[in-house]
Amino acid sequence: MGEPVAITNRAELRRWLERYNVRPSRRLGQNFLADGAWAERIVAALDPGPGDVVLEVGPGLGALTERLVSRAGRVVAIEIDRRLATALRERLGGAANLEIVEGDVLAVDLAGIVAGPGTGGVPGAARRVKLVSNLPYAITSPFLARWLASSLAWERAVLMLQAEVVDRLTAGPGSKDYGALTLFVQYHARVERLGTVPAGAFWPRPEVDSAVVRLWPRAEPPVQLADPERFFALVRAAFGRRRKGLPNALAALPGVSPEVARNVCARAGLAPSLRPENLTLEDFARVANLLFSSAGTRERGEDRL
Ligand code: SAM
Repeated sequence: MGEPVAITNRAELRRWLERYNVRPSRRLGQNFLADGAWAERIVAALDPGPGDVVLEVGPGLGALTERLVSRAGRVVAIEIDRRLATALRERLGGAANLEIVEGDVLAVDLAGIVAGPGTGGVPGAARRVKLVSNLPYAITSPFLARWLASSLAWERAVLMLQAEVVDRLTAGPGSKDYGALTLFVQYHARVERLGTVPAGAFWPRPEVDSAVVRLWPRAEPPVQLADPERFFALVRAAFGRRRKGLPNALAALPGVSPEVARNVCARAGLAPSLRPENLTLEDFARVANLLFSSAGTRERGEDRL
C-alpha cells in the first residue's frame, strides 16, 4: 500500500476503522484523535528528531505515529489491541524505523524495548528517549507510576490526559485538585500544560474534555527523601484524611502515636491547625524525614521522636 492518507478528521478516521472492521473498545479507552491540528501540535511539542527514540503508548490507528515516523530516528509503539496493531502494521509497516510491539504497557519491559536490538554502540543510533501518548484514561495513574518510578532515562513526555487529571498534576497546595498524584508527579517532573482539547476532537467522543501536558524530568529531586517509597505511602495516607488537622492525619498512620504526630509537626515547624492539603512537597519531606530517617526509629518505636 502506498503512502497512507493521514488521519486529520472524523470521516477519515471512521473510514480506517471500517476498513479494518474495528469497533472501538470502551474498556481499552479507544477514543481516537481525529483532529489533524492537535496531532500536529502534540508532535511539535515532542519535537522528535533523528537522534530520538520515541516511545508511543497506544498508537491505535496511528494518528500520531504517522507524524512521528517521518521525523524521529526510531519509533517504538506499544499497542495492546491486536486488531489495531495489525491495522497499524498495514498502514505504516513500510516505515523502517517503526517497531510495533503488541502488549500491555503496564506489563512489558519498557527499558528493554527502548534499548531495542542492535542499537548498542552504533554511532548515530537514536538514543534520546521521548514519550508520547494519547493515553487510555483507565491506565493513567498506574502508567505514570510505572514510568516515573522506572530508571529509564527520558528527555521529555507529551501526554493527552483527562483535563481533570491535568488539573491534579498542576495543582498547588490548598486547591481541591491537590493530592498524592500531584506530589508524586511533581517530585519526578516539571509539568507544563499545553492546552485543553475538546471532546469533539475524538471519535468516539469521550464524556469529558482532555488536555495535553509536557513533562520534563527533573535532573535532581526537588527534595531529599530518606525513603521515597514510604514517603509516598505517607502522602497517600495523609491525603486520605485531607480535611483533618495535620497531627490527627499523621496519627492515623501505623505506628505513629498522637504524641509523636504532634511532636513531628512542631519540629517540622508546621502549625497543628494546618491540614494535609495545605502542605507543600518540602513540608511533607520534612515530616517524612523526621518520621523515617533516623535509623531504626521505626523498629525502636516512633514514640521516641
Ligand atoms: N494514539 C491513538 C490516537 O491518538 O488516536 C489511540 C489513542 S486511544 C485513546 C488509546 C490507545 O491505547 C488504544 O489504541 C488502545 O487500544 C491502547 N491501549 C489501551 N490500553 C493499553 C495498554 N494497557 N497497553 C498498550 N496500549 C493500550
